[in-house]
Parts: sequence; C-alpha cells; structure tokens
Amino acid sequence: MQKIDAHLHVNLAGVDADQLIDYMDRHDVDKCWLLTWEELDAPISNLYQNLSPEEVFRVHDQYPDRIVPFYAPDPKTKNLEGTIKKHREKGLRGCGELKVTHKWEERIIGNYLRVIDKYDLPLLFHMEEPRMHYVPDKPDVIQQVLDKLMNGALNGITKHYLTKFSEKTSILKDHIEDHLTYFPGYLYDFANLEKRLRQFPGVDFIGHGPHFWNNISDNPPEILFHDKGDIDRFGIIDRLLTSYPNFYCDISGRSGFNALSRDREKTKLFLEKHHCKILFGTDNTGFDFEGLVRSFQLPDDKLNNIFFDNADRLVTG
Ligand SMILES: [Zn+2]
Repeated sequence: MQKIDAHLHVNLAGVDADQLIDYMDRHDVDKCWLLTWEELDAPISNLYQNLSPEEVFRVHDQYPDRIVPFYAPDPKTKNLEGTIKKHREKGLRGCGELKVTHKWEERIIGNYLRVIDKYDLPLLFHMEEPRMHYVPDKPDVIQQVLDKLMNGALNGITKHYLTKFSEKTSILKDHIEDHLTYFPGYLYDFANLEKRLRQFPGVDFIGHGPHFWNNISDNPPEILFHDKGDIDRFGIIDRLLTSYPNFYCDISGRSGFNALSRDREKTKLFLEKHHCKILFGTDNTGFDFEGLVRSFQLPDDKLNNIFFDNADRLVTG
C-alpha cells in the first residue's frame, strides 16, 4: 500500500533532511507533505519556531519525487498574493501549516482565504485554545522547573494543582502571576470556522491540533491539555466532517494520537465513517500512527484512502 505522510517538518525535533528521508525509507512512506511554520509577531517567542519555505524547497529540490512542498505565509505578510504566486510557480502544492494567533472571524483571515482559493491550494491548519502561559525570565533551576510544571507537564494537571496551591503561598503566587502571559490561541473559534467553510467551498480545509482533536468528543476538557477517557457522544468535528465536503483532518501530533487512542470502539466508528476525510500524518512525533490505524482492521479500500488517496487527491485535484 502506498503511503503519504501528510504532516512533516524539516529541522523540527532534531530531524534534518537526511533523517527525514531516512524515516520515510524505514517506514515505506512514498511521499510527504513538508510544512512550514511562519508567524511574524509570535506573542510568546519561546512557543514559536520558524520553519522556513527556503528549507522546504531546498529539500524538495533534492528529492522532488518524495517531497510535496507546502508553505503558509504569515497572514500579515506584505504582498501576500505576490508571495503565494511566486511559490506557486516554484511548485507549491498547498498552504500549511497555518499556526498563527488569529481567529477565523478576522478580516485578515478572510483575505488570506481569498488568495489561496484563487491559487487553488488546500489549507492545513492548527487549532489551539487560549491560555495563560508561564514565561521564565531567568535560566535558573526554579524557573526551569516551573516552566515544565506550568506549561503542560502531566497533561495540564500540575498547572491546575500548582495554581491552586500557590493561592495559599503568596511568594509563589506573586512569582507565578508576574510570569504569566496571555497566549491568544491558534484559529480556535469553531463557529467562525464553519462560516468560512461555507464561504469558501472551493478551499479544502484540513484541521489538526489539540483543540481540534479534543472536539472529537462533545464535552472537551477544562483542565487537561489533551482530553482522556471514553467519548460519550461525538463532538463538532464529526458534524463538520459529515456536513462539509471541503473539510478534512490529519491525525498527526500527540493530539491526534491521543484522540484516536482514548476510546477504541468510538475511534473505529469515526475511522469507518470518515475514511474519505482522514489523512495519515505523524508531525515528527515518532509515534506509531500506522500501527494504531491498522489495529482497527478496516478494509483495504478504507485504509488506502487514509494512508494515500485522500492526501493525493487534495494536491492533484
Ligand atoms: Zn505540525
């Protein structure tokens, strides 16, 4: 069975171009979508890592048959259309990963969608909710420890208890409050996303990220960063995948792996139902996504859609 990994980066998590190709060879991955990350004024600089289009095209030039080049310029880019046009002429096949602190409702995102619609590019994007983020200002041990505990250790549980505990200890409370910065979230407003799906039927939208995947269930978590436990009822992503022919998802990242591992019965239903809308991808995690998907023993035609056909169709039209 042919395979496309629809969510990979170069120079992320220590993976350079050679290691990327080596990973693809070892896992019989024929092609990958290679994605950028560009945010011009990231509000919290230590949450951001620039992954440039130059690097994507450099690897593409080396391995033109294996690499499908994607680039999502920051929506604030001056002459966005000129930038897209120039890269389209160089062989750009998609827009992604769009991981920016904007909301779907903003006018700048409307303009962005008009441009990629004109150049016939699918859009792969990341959804994450706003939160308070602990930002260390000195490299001391205590701040390093707090950085871990406050920003995701044990899936958000340590942040919850540490914040509660700090309310009783004023030094810690003051310190934490002084170091918390508001993180405005990435493209997290589902209601306005739905309006954009209707407004741009010619754009194929591919969602992923913690907020996207937490909404596989209809009651997303308050404390946990990645939700756990059984899925009683499917959430909004099930409805959007059902209702909109231009809406897709990629299963990559810890968020996708977690969402598809928490309730095997419901996951099997989800894969059976949306096999024409789901794209295999890993996002440099090294998690065994292939083993996970295969463990549900879907028929070959459905597996073929998830592992290859859906991604192939989206970039070949
Ligand atoms: Zn990614």
